[in-house]
Order: sequence, then C-alpha cells, then structure tokens
Amino acid sequence: MALIVHKYGGTSMGTPDRIRNVAKRVAKWARAGHQMVVVPSAMSGETNRLLGLAKELSPTSSTAALMRELDMIAATGEQVSVGLLAIALQAEGMDAVSYTGWQVPVATDNSYTKARIESIDDAKVRADLAAGKVVVITGFQGVDEDNNITTLGRGGSDTSAVAIAAAMKANECLIYTDVDGVYTTDPRIVPDARRLHTISFEEMLEMASLGSKVLQIRSVEFAGKYKVPLRVLSSFTPWDIDINEEAKSGTLITFEEDEKMEQAVVSGIAFNRDEAKVTLLGVPDKPGIAFQILGPVADANIDVDVIIQNVSQDGKTDFSFTVHRNDYQRAIELLEKTVGPAVQAAKVIGDTRICKVSIVGIGMRSHAGIASKMFRSLSEEGINIQMITTSEIKTSVVIDEKYMELAVRALHRAFELDQPLPV
Ligand code: ADP
Ligand code: ASP
Ligand code: MG
Repeated sequence: MALIVHKYGGTSMGTPDRIRNVAKRVAKWARAGHQMVVVPSAMSGETNRLLGLAKELSPTSSTAALMRELDMIAATGEQVSVGLLAIALQAEGMDAVSYTGWQVPVATDNSYTKARIESIDDAKVRADLAAGKVVVITGFQGVDEDNNITTLGRGGSDTSAVAIAAAMKANECLIYTDVDGVYTTDPRIVPDARRLHTISFEEMLEMASLGSKVLQIRSVEFAGKYKVPLRVLSSFTPWDIDINEEAKSGTLITFEEDEKMEQAVVSGIAFNRDEAKVTLLGVPDKPGIAFQILGPVADANIDVDVIIQNVSQDGKTDFSFTVHRNDYQRAIELLEKTVGPAVQAAKVIGDTRICKVSIVGIGMRSHAGIASKMFRSLSEEGINIQMITTSEIKTSVVIDEKYMELAVRALHRAFELDQPLPV
C-alpha cells in the first residue's frame, strides 16, 4: 500500500462533471489499495473572479491590510473545491473528508499573497487515512501564527500538494493538469512542442523560474529539497484507464542526470511576459552607482531580475533593469522622485511591452556556442535583443513583447526540439 498525493488544477476541477471525473479517478486509486490525499485548486476562473471583485472596490491599494483581505477572499475558491470534491467522492461510495489550510493546519509565514509554508501537521490527516478515508485538502492556502488566512501565490496549489507529499513522506505526488506532461515549451504557443518523458529537477526548476507555469517554482523547490517523486500528467484521460499505465504516463521529474538527457543540449524554452524594463539614462559612471540605484529598489521590496549597465565613453552611462509588471509603477515613481535625482540621472524611461525568452538545458554546461546559436536564430528573424543574461544551464534574452511567439517558435526549431529524442 502506498501513500499517494494527487493534485488537480483549476481546469480539471472546472465543472461538476469534471469534479465527478476527478472523484472517479481518485476512487479508482483508493480501491487499488492506496492511501489517498487529494489537493484541488479553485474551479477555473474562480481565483481571478474573486480577486477581480476586490479590485473593483479598491483598484490601486496594496497595503498590508488590503493584502490580508485578498487572501481571505482568494482562499474561498479552494474551500468550495474541497467541499465539492468530498461530496463527489462520497457519491462514489468513498469515505471522504475535506479540510482547509487552517484546519490541517498548514502553517505559513505572514507574507500575504505569497506566503511560504513553514510546517504541516499531518496528525489529523494520518488518522483519517488510517480510518480508511480519502482526505481532500485545499491547495493554495495556509494560516500564519496569528491565525490569519494566507495564500501561497498564483499557481500555489502545486506547492501545497508537494509540501503535503513531503511532510507525509508520500510515495509519489501526481500533478494532474490540462496538458499531458511537461513539454519542450508551452504547447499552446508551439503546437509542435514535444512531451518530455523525464526532465531533470534542475531543468524543471529553471523552466518554472523562467515562466513555464505548468508547475509553480516553489513546488519544484520543495520536490528538490525533500526528494519528492513528482510527475505531471493529464486529468483528461478517461478516468478508468489502466492504473499501471496511468502511473507511468506524463512527465517524471528526475533527480539523477541520465545519459539520454545529457544528449539534448537544450531541453526546453520558457518565456515570461510578467516583467517590465526601467532605465536611468545618463548616470555618472563611478563606483557605487549600481548600489545607489538598486539599494533603494531592494529597500522598497521590489525584486529585480535582469540588469544591464552600458560601457561609458564620456563618464556617463545608462543603467537598465527589469522588475515584475506589478511593481513597475512603483519602480518608476521611486526612480523619478528619489533615486534619479540622487544619482543625477538625465532621464528615467520605462517599457512594459517586453518579454523574456529563455533556453534551458543541463547539456549547455558541456557545450560551447549554444548562446550564439540562439542569438543567430533571433537575428535571422530580425528580432532585436535588448538584454541578455546567462547561467550554467540557461540563456535568457529580453525582447519586444510583440516578437515573443515568433522567437519561441524560431528557437524551438533551431534547437530541433520538435524532433524525436535520440535513443
Ligand atoms: P493547472 O490549473 O492544472 O494548475 P496551469 O494552467 O497552471 O494548470 O498549468 C498548465 C499550463 O501550463 C498548460 O495548459 C500550458 O499552457 C502551460 N505550460 C507552459 N509551459 C509549459 C510546458 N513547458 N509544458 C507544458 N505546459 C506548459
Ligand atoms: N487557484 C489558485 C490560482 O488560480 C491556485 C492554483 O490554481 O494553483 O492561482
Ligand atoms: Mg497551475
């Protein structure tokens, strides 16, 4: 008998029919002798709807007091889901019980809207499992030490599921979603994208951090830290397919680099439309300038991603960096009002219509010339590169947003990701 955690995303939970299907699938696993914990997301569109209501009442505020209430509101989507799924399981003849984050409890810090899980008390869940129940736990939410409800950031149900699997030392965590695995890139952008049978943990971490929303990055971090066996697979297969076949389907995140993976120099392409670029023009090129600019930005709790500083000829230089689009307005204001005058910048400009496109692969470690192949292929499409950043296993470029799909398709082709894997 194994302890298995299933996670179902919003689309998989989108209608009563789909919830019934989830229940039938979970019942099949339970009847095969497994102890089952199920972590569903809110029904598709529900979290957006809830946050949209809040925005109607307060379009611009981002005070801590408001963030607390956003979590209060957003967490209800998952509460509805667990209740519905428990009912559907009961209708399938299963003994099932649902819990919200605070009932388990899933303890988090108090960073509203992006809280981090600190610990999970699994005593109650274990007792239920021992009594033969299927336990349904909300994704996306937890509770801080003062009993405030918190949420884990968009896409956070993945992290709830993996964290629960880690805390309970589950045999496997299966992430059921609306695609049948992790692809070489988002199959909605590149129809030729190929499903990967396995992807290394490191590559998955990069893909997630660079924008592939198939798994929330923190879920991959948890899986890595606690070595949780993790698989991404489809919730849209018939619920009654052979369980052994289902258990092998999708994409397995692996912790060992096998030879086959090393042959694929680039494993995947990620993209991210969530960033914006800000630039200080004509700042004095002298020691300490980066700190004078980025220090106050960090103090304002604005995360910076790609940074570029030009070479100067006349003692003046331009300094650009990217921030999350949600922080763009605040960053511009900070630069215009405080930082710009302090460093005697000539001008502050910004651009929200950018995107970041990245190639990822552990094989890049041992191969030279990969980045230049990327740049060549973008230049052949006439796409201008605004910023570049590299690490051992990825190269990212910032380009005009309107070329994003073109760039992703061109790179997918250039690195032959549409071709079958060598065997
Ligand atoms: P869920 O609601 O199940 O959590 P998400 O929408 O969060 O689903 O994640 C699944 C989506 O991730 C897919 O529909 C797909 O469009 C997108 N996606 C982005 N990059 C990839 C990738 N490399 N492989 C598979 N799916 C990807
Ligand atoms: N419902 C939450 C969201 O839409 C969490 C999730 O789906 O993982 O972001
Ligand atoms: Mg998701």
